Amino acid sequence: MSEITKIVLNAGKDQSPKRFHPWIFSGAVKRVEGDVKNGDVVEVYSSSNEYLCTGHYQKGSIMVRVFSFEKITPDANFWKSKIQKAYDYRKSLGITNSENTNVYRLVYGEGDGLPGLIIDYYDGTAVLQAHSIGMYRERHFIVDALKEIYGEKLTAVYDKSKESLGSSGSKVPVEVIEESELKNGYLFGSGSQKQVLENGHKFQIDWEEGQKTGFFIDQRENRKLVAQFAPGKTVLDCFCYAGGFSTYALKAGAMNVHSVDSSKAAIKLTYDNIQLNFGETASQTSFVADAFDFLGSHQAEYDMMIIDPPAFAKHRDARHQAVMGYRRLNALAIKGIKPGGIIFTFSCSQVVDKYLFNGAITAAAIETGRNIRILEYLSQPADHPISIYHPEGEYLKGMILYIE
Ligand code: SAH
Repeated sequence: MSEITKIVLNAGKDQSPKRFHPWIFSGAVKRVEGDVKNGDVVEVYSSSNEYLCTGHYQKGSIMVRVFSFEKITPDANFWKSKIQKAYDYRKSLGITNSENTNVYRLVYGEGDGLPGLIIDYYDGTAVLQAHSIGMYRERHFIVDALKEIYGEKLTAVYDKSKESLGSSGSKVPVEVIEESELKNGYLFGSGSQKQVLENGHKFQIDWEEGQKTGFFIDQRENRKLVAQFAPGKTVLDCFCYAGGFSTYALKAGAMNVHSVDSSKAAIKLTYDNIQLNFGETASQTSFVADAFDFLGSHQAEYDMMIIDPPAFAKHRDARHQAVMGYRRLNALAIKGIKPGGIIFTFSCSQVVDKYLFNGAITAAAIETGRNIRILEYLSQPADHPISIYHPEGEYLKGMILYIE
């Protein structure tokens, strides 16, 4: 593999890769030695010809996504060892062999030294999502690695890269990949929708038609906290998707749960999951509605609310609007909750960091004039690891609030 294309950085631009930051921005690049196509593996050198790192090239602001800071040959063995490391890490968390949970994130991009790759594991089915052309091209190595690591436990690998790479994907310009090449489908085995267990709660997962890879695995630990506060409460689960929070709240003994989502498909999933866990007897009602409207017209009804909206900002340019959105949404929630109520509020916009989110919530609080205590700050779980060298990997943040 001696013909790996060389990328040479401008003088002084070697500091970032030397601190193990996994992105090389186009502005740092002095020259590309040779022909390079999107998705090619490249080696990055300093202006004094010192080797720095190896990664995938892609035209755009982030020009190289780095997967190794040591000189390596990116062959089957290399990818196997990367996926094995990701697996071993989850194993050390106790999550690969748990009796109560068989759904977790196996690979979280930069947090696992694999920028551009997401793999979620649903009790035997791995759902893979490439966010870069380079990772998309490595997918067969990755499937082989998964087969070796899981053995018979692995029944299928589903590729859901079309959403993240195709014209509907947000990050990659359409013209950089043959759209015709891209389709979602099984790379190994075949599957039907499946039932998984999360902390003993059953969920039906539809990775083919569902949002993202099928489920919001990142809220697992926060759902446990919701269960802790829910007994006896009247609960509103806003932006409920598949009813994750609703299910935990009911199981924990909530008096009554209302679940709201603007998507009919999401409400159907919620219905299925409530049925699956409780049959017809649950004191739960679903509403297909806009969360802002719903909150506005249901004041002083709830003891507890979960506010878990989709990312309001996908790009930095949308940040201001997003912050205003969080402020308006949370002001409605805070105004509307009963005295002594608890609000779990979240943001999954990567470009709105925890400080900015905190500011938005504070502004919402001031607007309502109510006295509020912060019980806890929330984040993403350990199977969505944040590399200390890549703080951008932190995207999920939340707070538990007590409203007097
Ligand atoms: N809380 C969920 C994940 C929420 S994802 C869980 O734990 O699994 C965000 C959800 O918000 C999606 O299901 C989406 O359909 C819904 N949504 C988006 N805009 C909305 C709006 N304006 N009002 C209500 N729901 C909305």
